[in-house]
Amino acid sequence: MNTILLYLINLVIASWVTCLADRSIADRPLWTQRSYCLACHHVLSWYDLIPLVSAFILRGHCRSCQAPYATWKRLLLVEGVIPLIGLFVLVTGSWTMVVTFYLLVFLALEDWATMTCTVFPAWIWAGFLFLLKEPSSNDIICMVTVLILVTLLSVTKLLGWGDVPVILIACLIFDSANFALFIIVACLSTLVYLLVSTRRQAPFIPFLTLAFVLLLILTH
Ligand SMILES: [Zn+2]
Repeated sequence: MNTILLYLINLVIASWVTCLADRSIADRPLWTQRSYCLACHHVLSWYDLIPLVSAFILRGHCRSCQAPYATWKRLLLVEGVIPLIGLFVLVTGSWTMVVTFYLLVFLALEDWATMTCTVFPAWIWAGFLFLLKEPSSNDIICMVTVLILVTLLSVTKLLGWGDVPVILIACLIFDSANFALFIIVACLSTLVYLLVSTRRQAPFIPFLTLAFVLLLILTH
């Protein structure tokens, strides 16, 4: 029963985070009003927002204008995969891991769709984790080194500016061995994606998110 309740909490958070990402991708204000259809601006009623049930009844279409707002693949991601991973992170990790996971999901969805992301929450979260960790002088030297390297890669356009705080967050969360593994997994999965995809450029944050989840599973 407890697990079902925690899953439902994660379902609500996953829906909220993906709704914010959709607004950001559509270049709409994030916090202005209740959930609405991005196609016709119809404000959704409470019965249009019941996780799992509403999408199933409406078959992923807006009740007002019939515009599709979700494919089955997306529903599987938003109402299955993301909240289930959120549940795993919640049960096995700390609340900071849960916040990090959903922040990464938000940034990854934006990056996947637009090759850019809203970077300021990631910087704020990196700053908060830095204060929370109370790092040693060795940690600070490592972080500054990572920051300089990643910034250089961003200047040369090999990475985007949005990747910088995300990599810094991972540096603050993982120890050095796991951080190295995190970077290797992210880079290898990006390379595999570039080999099999028709895209000429790959968004990096989705693969950093994938590496974050895999590391949590491997190290728990
Ligand atoms: Zn609509």
